[in-house]
Amino acid sequence: MAYDQNNIFAKILRGEIPCKEVYSDEYVLAFHDIAPQAPVHILVIPRGQYISIDEFGREGSAEEIKGFYTAIDKIVAQEGLKENGFRCIANTGDHGGQEVPHFHMHILGGCKIGRMVETDAV
Ligand code: AMP
Repeated sequence: MAYDQNNIFAKILRGEIPCKEVYSDEYVLAFHDIAPQAPVHILVIPRGQYISIDEFGREGSAEEIKGFYTAIDKIVAQEGLKENGFRCIANTGDHGGQEVPHFHMHILGGCKIGRMVETDAV
């Protein structure tokens, strides 16, 4: 599958639509989710054009991957999530429930996040 240049996160990266920015550096942009599922709900996206977490791991450079996870460390510190913890989710593809085809990590915190998954299949 080719990267869709018109996905909503590509437009946010190009500054064509606004976001509530939390953190930005040469590797990532992080912003508040428009429909938060927890008191803290942040999306972290790489600046490179990667559709999914697995593509990012396969095709991303070591510098991009290190930059991405270093940014997560900085963001959870900045947002005061280190003491009580947080959850990271990378929905991927149809079964994963991915809606936006630009790799993004959800960071959820500010309360106990609850059940890890919702499925009746097991
Ligand atoms: P996913 O289902 O993992 O692809 O998650 C996509 C997320 O993007 C959802 O949690 C949406 O609420 C969020 N979202 C969609 N559009 C925007 C936007 N313009 N600004 C911030 N978050 C958005």
